[in-house]
Amino acid sequence: MPYSEQTVQSVRPWSDKTFSFRLSRPQGFAFENGEFVTIGLKREGKLVARAYSIVSTADRDYLEFLSIHVPDGPLTSQLVHIRPGDSVWVNNKPTGTLTLNHVLPGRTLYMLATGTGLAPFMSLIRDPALYARYEHVVLVHSVRMVAELAYRAEIEALNNAQLYYVPTVTRESFPTTERGSDLFRSGMLSQRLGLPAPDPEHDRVMICGNPAMTRELAHTLKDAGWTSTSHRGVGNFTTEVAFVVHHE
Ligand SMILES: Cc1cc2nc3c(=O)[nH]c(=O)nc-3n(C[C@H](O)[C@H](O)[C@H](O)COP(=O)(O)OP(=O)(O)OC[C@H]3O[C@@H](n4cnc5c(N)ncnc54)[C@H](O)[C@@H]3O)c2cc1C
Repeated sequence: MPYSEQTVQSVRPWSDKTFSFRLSRPQGFAFENGEFVTIGLKREGKLVARAYSIVSTADRDYLEFLSIHVPDGPLTSQLVHIRPGDSVWVNNKPTGTLTLNHVLPGRTLYMLATGTGLAPFMSLIRDPALYARYEHVVLVHSVRMVAELAYRAEIEALNNAQLYYVPTVTRESFPTTERGSDLFRSGMLSQRLGLPAPDPEHDRVMICGNPAMTRELAHTLKDAGWTSTSHRGVGNFTTEVAFVVHHE
């Protein structure tokens, strides 16, 4: 059986579109910070399962996730109703392209996330190994509404001099309203933080966002001489889509 039945420990709503929850961790479940795993609910004996990045770090005895709520989504229309004590099924094979082994060490690491694409970076920014590999880590989280800035207080409370957290809100008034990808591309991001302009020789990029943003930014980087991690080797940038757009 690739899936094991786990118990919901807690649920935390952020907005009408996003919520987090914690599950018990399957016995012997090993993963790298930044990876994702398929989780699901059983309805009338049938499993409805989707990929989810793991928010919690590998040293915890629970698994935490950050979820979107798609009102007509096969999984999340149900998942949004889970309560402590309910069952969620967790696959036993986590994987992913956003681990520390997927990008070279370097000077500044830029982590660019939109929406629930923040999830894998929540795991990574709490890993001390990250700060040994990079002088500075810049985490940009772009969302539409302020309420979608999940984990904002926790990130700010990390109070780590190597970590720069840049929340941006595109559809409500907020100190920063530009999209994270635009801030990065224009050079405004590094400039505002007082960091050297991003350079493929010294700096690294991890992207986890909506498919359009992820694709566009990967193209821009490649055109500017950056190399993506692939079967050919570890590059100076790596990407993962935060979700796939399904067409009926
Ligand atoms: C590698 C990978 C990692 C993922 N990690 C997460 C995660 O950590 N948290 C999470 O909530 N989802 C994540 N997803 C998306 C997730 O797998 C499901 O698509 C999501 O839970 C919705 O499931 P659903 O069955 O309700 O709707 P689906 O039928 O899966 O999706 C319906 C539509 O909703 C939109 N959509 C789906 N997911 C999102 C999202 N996260 N943000 C914005 N729009 C979305 C898309 O337009 C999609 O076509 C990930 C997907 C992949 C491929």
